[in-house]
Amino acid sequence: MTPCHRGVLFLDELPEFAHAVLESIRQPIEDRVVTVSRAQGNATFPANFMLLAAMNPCPCGYYGDPTHECSCSPSAVTRYRHRISGPLMDRMDIFVDVPRVDYEKLIDEPSTEGSAEIRERVETCRASQRLRFSESRLSSNCEMGPVEVREFCQRFLEDAANSLLKMAVNQLSLSARSFHRVLKVSRTIADLAGAETITAAHLAEALQYRQRGTN
Ligand SMILES: [Zn+2]
Repeated sequence: MTPCHRGVLFLDELPEFAHAVLESIRQPIEDRVVTVSRAQGNATFPANFMLLAAMNPCPCGYYGDPTHECSCSPSAVTRYRHRISGPLMDRMDIFVDVPRVDYEKLIDEPSTEGSAEIRERVETCRASQRLRFSESRLSSNCEMGPVEVREFCQRFLEDAANSLLKMAVNQLSLSARSFHRVLKVSRTIADLAGAETITAAHLAEALQYRQRGTN
């Protein structure tokens, strides 16, 4: 199995999955293989995937919506969110809130980049990552271990980014895993911008993708 044989596992309505199912994907996320145990023995299969998941903010779906009141009790909202365990959240790189889109915005001409331009930017970014790792068995930033994070992320942090990182580690009490993830995401943000150095702005963007309370 080579690292480029990677699929996408999309779990919609994430909290609706059984707890045991959600916990069972933790190991394949780390090891990129899945082991199935039966009475006759164990079988190990490749399971190299990018995990994408979507969930509502609460069971009714309206928590935080400016135009529609949420009908859930605070305890129901908490229970719903706690169905995703801290260790599973800790293995996710990027959290994004997707607010409702107004009708006006839906019918407006898009003023931002189109899919084709974004694709081009992503392909350029992936090509630069392949070049970075051409001497190793890795192919993309997310596969970096602690050694590569030091060599390709920490060494390229500008001074202001270094200070910001130090502050974030202290104030957000980042776990070692989160620390590496934030650095890897900031490396990718810098790559997408075509920058060799990771600036404070790149690092700040990576930090804001962390889920609050799951560091
Ligand atoms: Zn609700």
